[in-house]
Amino acid sequence: MDTNLRSYTVAEVTDGFIYNELEAKGLYGLAGQLVIQPEYQRNYIYNDGKRDVAVIDSLLKGYPLGLIYFVDTGSNLEVLDGQQRITSVGRFVTGKFAIKRAGREQTFGSLPEEDRDRILGSELLVYVCSGTEAEIKEWFQTINIAGVPLNAQELRNAIYSGPFVTAAKAEFSNSRNAHQQKWSAYVKGDPKRQEVLQEALSWVGAAQSPPQHIDGYMAAHRADTGIQGLKSYFASVIDWIDSVFVSVPDPSMRGLEWGRLYETYHGRPYHPTNVDERVQQLLSDPAVSSKKGVFEYVLGGEEDPRLLDVRIFDRATKQQAYNRQTTEANAKGTSNCPLCAHGSNANATRIYKLTEMEADHVAAWSRGGATTLDNCEMLCIPHNRSKGNR
Ligand SMILES: [Zn+2]
Repeated sequence: MDTNLRSYTVAEVTDGFIYNELEAKGLYGLAGQLVIQPEYQRNYIYNDGKRDVAVIDSLLKGYPLGLIYFVDTGSNLEVLDGQQRITSVGRFVTGKFAIKRAGREQTFGSLPEEDRDRILGSELLVYVCSGTEAEIKEWFQTINIAGVPLNAQELRNAIYSGPFVTAAKAEFSNSRNAHQQKWSAYVKGDPKRQEVLQEALSWVGAAQSPPQHIDGYMAAHRADTGIQGLKSYFASVIDWIDSVFVSVPDPSMRGLEWGRLYETYHGRPYHPTNVDERVQQLLSDPAVSSKKGVFEYVLGGEEDPRLLDVRIFDRATKQQAYNRQTTEANAKGTSNCPLCAHGSNANATRIYKLTEMEADHVAAWSRGGATTLDNCEMLCIPHNRSKGNR
């Protein structure tokens, strides 16, 4: 038996598409060359307003529809697997059902031209096989039973197959590559499922000017015999991480957006010993909820505490601090906002309601202050906001 991977556009596959309402079958495509629903296939079942619509949504979003299988009978092609998807697309482009787009019911004919072009230009990846009937049946059973669906990068590798993909897989998809263990400290995913390659491609693509998605980058380099740009960019990112964060990598470093972090911060100078000390402190700080945010927080000069998702004072703590301050203020005849109390305007004696105040760390959290009652002080909202994010 012989198999061949081919790519057809939706326009080609639905050329001459006929849908038989009585028999509920998609009949022909590829200008009559393709029999969409041979007699042995089950009827079309996707016309439920969900699965058929999902197929069209996938095309509009640029998602692959998954592998399709044709049999070459010698006189024409028959759909072995994929008839539900093809029939959905064929029915849509011939105006048989509508989808919701931007809140409105839209048929193919009422879609904007760019959406119509996107659908018609979408590529369908097809295995065409030829062989004896017994071989075909056996194969059909195999793809139906053992069919682990291809993931996004595996599909891209098939779509853009060529010397570039071959070289890229040899570098990034070989689990015995001596570098894989080091990379796995920073990059999440299984090299054999092409997930390391996918990350490397997304980094180098985003660094292009203008930035490219993985598909765009692979399309542009499809015929390249080498992967120099991809390989050296990936190495630059990894070497930079190693040079800035010198300790044994923390598990929370795995899967961060290192490509983006490299692009944003690699031009800045860092003192690795100081960086390491801060990172270790923050990773072990119980107030820091987001360990993953520690690295960008330190890279950015500790200016954006939101990255750390620091635990804030709870309602009971704020109420207790408020009660304590307000009792003292009433006794002294001053404002219950300590900063207002030191001022000289009318607010110096103003008693704020709890809802008019916010909790502040007395010893700044960023300088080691704890999120506890004895480090909690209520300030009026203008004073608290004017102190900024400490
Ligand atoms: Zn105040």
